[in-house]
Amino acid sequence: MREQDIKQIVAKVLEELKDQVGSLEKSRTNQASYCYGDVDDAVEMAVKAQKIWQWEYSLEEKKRIIDGLKKFLLDYVEELAVLAVEDTDMGRVDDKIAKNKLAIEKTPGPEFFTTKATSGDNGLVLEELSPFGVIASITPSTNPTASVINNTICMISGGNAVVFAPHPSAVKCSLRSCELINQYLTSQGVPTGLVSSLSIATLENAQKLMTHKDVRLISATGGPGVVKAALSSGKPAIGAGPGNPPVIVDETAHLEKTAKDVIAGCSFDNNLPCIAEKELIVVNCVADQLKRYMLENGAFELKGGDVEKLKKLVLTEDGKPNKSYVGKDAVRILADIGIKVPESIRVILVEAEEKDPLVQEEMLMPVLPMVRVSDFEEGLMMALRVEHGFRHSAAIHSTNIDNMSRMARAMETTIFTKNAPSFASIGFGGDCPTAFTIATTTGQGPTTPLSFCRVRRCLLHGAFRIV
Ligand code: NAD
Repeated sequence: MREQDIKQIVAKVLEELKDQVGSLEKSRTNQASYCYGDVDDAVEMAVKAQKIWQWEYSLEEKKRIIDGLKKFLLDYVEELAVLAVEDTDMGRVDDKIAKNKLAIEKTPGPEFFTTKATSGDNGLVLEELSPFGVIASITPSTNPTASVINNTICMISGGNAVVFAPHPSAVKCSLRSCELINQYLTSQGVPTGLVSSLSIATLENAQKLMTHKDVRLISATGGPGVVKAALSSGKPAIGAGPGNPPVIVDETAHLEKTAKDVIAGCSFDNNLPCIAEKELIVVNCVADQLKRYMLENGAFELKGGDVEKLKKLVLTEDGKPNKSYVGKDAVRILADIGIKVPESIRVILVEAEEKDPLVQEEMLMPVLPMVRVSDFEEGLMMALRVEHGFRHSAAIHSTNIDNMSRMARAMETTIFTKNAPSFASIGFGGDCPTAFTIATTTGQGPTTPLSFCRVRRCLLHGAFRIV
């Protein structure tokens, strides 16, 4: 077949797809075009929009549109942050603004792709990254808007379409994020359906989306339940699961800076990030000094009977986190046990033993248990136990290179931070791209556009080696 004929056929197919997208949109006047009550409708639109996005938009156009989308979204970081806090009743507006900005400014786009080429006596081989097609993205309540922004940029940069299944307690802010993304994309002529969301957030709908025959990849960000469901779907899946990140402070750490870093990381968005410091393990000989610095920099220590009151509040009877206190301000948690503190208090510090549920559980609230150990080695063994093998995140404050290396190797975590708040490792004050889907369970690590693509090889035999 002549090249001319092939071009004509491709153009005709794309025209037909555009007409079909148009008529589908018209037939569904009862729902906004960025959200769908019905899983089949959402996927049908996504399939069509993805083909047009993949084939009709050049790499340059995709890059221009994604750069424009980033600029456009910057005007809405505050609105989305306020909405996310109202919607979920968790987190801090200022920190959510920072997370939204981070997702916009440091999520890599199409520029991240390179082609791998090898050549030899037999000619040339290219390996390129190609879209999966339609991705089902299940997002958490803890970073709802930043996850939608981060996933959208990564997924469409790779030429994919995405249908989001929002968390039931984060529907409004997730839908608003999708609406804004669509407002910009449609202003650039991008077909409706490339980025959309289910409007009815139920587990049944999320399951239906994940197992839809035209969904080619699942991205599941959340607790163990959703990761298990994604991995049981029989489809390729990116599983970004829970963690319980320990931070060790040894006797060589710069204690004042360490105290500030630990408070900053642990209290960021009220400890909602999965990477945030969740238990502090300190070598005994520096524990008192570290604690003094922490108390001067935003921590409030509870002791004796007050600790028991706190535990009654933030733990259920079976020692699990009480959902009503997840992501709440330290000031509010303290007020509920009758202690009034200034607004500058961001973390509640409690001395604890390893077996304490505050240490063992992923609390997702600004309550930081501190455990004393006699030396680094004892601390490392404890850190390994309390991380529970999630291999998610861990941190150390130290100037002893041997200790830092030993812990980095032993923990085998997806993210390991040395001498900084944990959020530096997702680009907030660290020189790396950001990711709000950190694929711990399935191993892709902090996701980029490459994580949502598949590798394809193309070989030309006997030519195009130039030396
Ligand atoms: P969650 O597990 O309650 O919900 C996450 C999403 O999964 C929601 O959209 C929910 O509706 C859906 N879901 C849950 N069970 C499901 C099932 N069986 N089938 C289909 N869908 C299901 O999590 P959350 O409370 O919103 O978020 C906090 C958890 O997520 C923490 O454990 C945190 O560590 C983890 N998290 C991990 C990452 C990461 O990148 N690794 C990022 C953010 C949050």
